[in-house]
Amino acid sequence: MRAVLLRGPEQIELADIEEPELVEGSVIVAIDRCGIGGSDVEAFLDGKLPAGAWFGHEWVGQVVEVGAGLPDRFVGEVVVGAVPPPCGQCRPCRAGYGSHCRLVLEMIVGADPLASKHGAFAEAIRVDARRVQRLPEGIDVNDAALSEPAAVAVHAVERSGVGLGDVVVVIGAGTIGLLVAELSRLAGAAQVGAVDPEPARRELVCDLGSDAAFAPGEGIGRWLSQTGHGLGADVVFDCSGSDEALGSAVREVRRGGTVVAVGVSSRKSPSPSAKLIEREVTLRASLGYTIADVQRALALMADDRLRVSRIYQSETVGLGEVGSVIERLAASGRAELKSLVQP
Ligand SMILES: [Zn+2]
Repeated sequence: MRAVLLRGPEQIELADIEEPELVEGSVIVAIDRCGIGGSDVEAFLDGKLPAGAWFGHEWVGQVVEVGAGLPDRFVGEVVVGAVPPPCGQCRPCRAGYGSHCRLVLEMIVGADPLASKHGAFAEAIRVDARRVQRLPEGIDVNDAALSEPAAVAVHAVERSGVGLGDVVVVIGAGTIGLLVAELSRLAGAAQVGAVDPEPARRELVCDLGSDAAFAPGEGIGRWLSQTGHGLGADVVFDCSGSDEALGSAVREVRRGGTVVAVGVSSRKSPSPSAKLIEREVTLRASLGYTIADVQRALALMADDRLRVSRIYQSETVGLGEVGSVIERLAASGRAELKSLVQP
């Protein structure tokens, strides 16, 4: 079968490889769609992966084979790639901190010992059966490929404590930022403002329900002074991953407010700021997501409350185009929307 493999820094190969073989506790999934995300572009530039099945991890597909010990009824189910429930065995789990389960945190970055060495830019993938989440009725297959970033956004908004009537600022209107803006509104925010250097992304975040969007350093401060209580944002999400953005997040949040740094990988190291203390700001970090976040994201997508279809390009690309799309994304920054791969 065909699979797109990362061979080194800026080296992508469309290869003919062996079909994945079943092992106990695993399922084989025929991939219908796989989103190209920012972390795929990072991996392309570095030539390194945090773990095996990472390059292409935003996938949806159909279970075609199940390993020993798993019921045959799983065959034919449409599933998305997720994380397992807490294992109950590791030290954090035994101490009662299932939300920090080591197995879950490892599987978020694709460290799945049962998984194929390649990711889901492929016709099929083998994964640990505990990592698949059945798709509810009523979600388009393209939309379903956004379930992983949607779960990351659900996790961040849950962590933030955004509530009724809040003023929210979202820095970075990439895929995660767009979803965080939508979900903040669903969580009860009265006003949502966004910051992004790309005009097209500023327009899109407003189309999806935000009230205003600004280029970095242009106007968000004035907007906040004229919005709600005028004291600044109750909650600021940094979805950009840059230290400068974290600095501006601390300036835009009101005294006593909350800043949430959103991420999946642990690559970024936000520099701590004395401003945090001076302004008595709560800084929350949000890492990845849990199986419960996936279920919430899918439920919101199934009844059309969380709209994801504007966040990806409607034309899918084939496996042969993955390399050129990622090269283009690496060269041009993030002007274009997410592409979905249809093997
Ligand atoms: Zn555990």
